Amino acid sequence: MLKDFLKKKKRYATIPSERAKQEVPEGLMTKCPACRTIMYTKELKKNLYVCDTCGHHHRMAAYDRMNSIFDSGTFVEFNQNMTSLNPLGFDAYEEKLEADRKKTGINEAVVTGEGQIGGFGAVAAVMDARFRMGSMGSVVGEKITLAVERAIDKKLPFILFSASGGARMQEGVLSLMQMAKTSAALQKLHREGGLFISIMTHPTTGGVSASFASLGDYNFAEPKALIGFAGRRIIEQTIRQELPDDFQTAEFLLKHGQLDRVVPRLEMKETLRNILDIHAS
Ligand SMILES: [Zn+2]
Repeated sequence: MLKDFLKKKKRYATIPSERAKQEVPEGLMTKCPACRTIMYTKELKKNLYVCDTCGHHHRMAAYDRMNSIFDSGTFVEFNQNMTSLNPLGFDAYEEKLEADRKKTGINEAVVTGEGQIGGFGAVAAVMDARFRMGSMGSVVGEKITLAVERAIDKKLPFILFSASGGARMQEGVLSLMQMAKTSAALQKLHREGGLFISIMTHPTTGGVSASFASLGDYNFAEPKALIGFAGRRIIEQTIRQELPDDFQTAEFLLKHGQLDRVVPRLEMKETLRNILDIHAS
């Protein structure tokens, strides 16, 4: 009897099975893909989604980006409800758009609007890579064009944050036409003496890098952003040469004269404010 009692004696507490099954709420913690540090998502958000340990710039949603550059409470969105149709009758395209709308809380891969940056007015367009990989369809092109036209009308600078996989396959040639349309609008802004600041974020590729994203009076990028037209493998196969490791990174492009500056996200608002200040006077 005594032996049995000693055998059964518990040396540690058991967690009731229900509590053991409880999981960590989704999104509470985030693991940095670069240095593998696990951090509180809230803290990461406070640091504008830049890893505190290694400086890795995590992907940023469009509204978070707007909040990070505009003075609190000044941002007014344009054309929020504009949505893509399925002009080519592409299979399951509408369903994919609907799924992305639910997932991201935005209606298309770009958010546009105006507000104040350090007291200076500006129109901005921010692409969101979570929506159809930030691909450029008719609505993305139209919203960017309308925002540029608004900047022309109101004599405000235009700021663009690009993040895109390129043209949107499901809209075929209509998607490619957006390259010409947005570029023509920016040319008009240029002729009217307007200012355009382009900031390329990870990744800015395909038709977006080959049109409006590269047309800034100032062309900036975030650290280590992938920027290019065709993918690395395609280029290597075409030219039959091995490319350098840092090929198509922001730092590589800066070294070769295609960018004016690589701007860390935590310095972005101050940098924009200074440029707006110079051009305001
Ligand atoms: Zn990190």
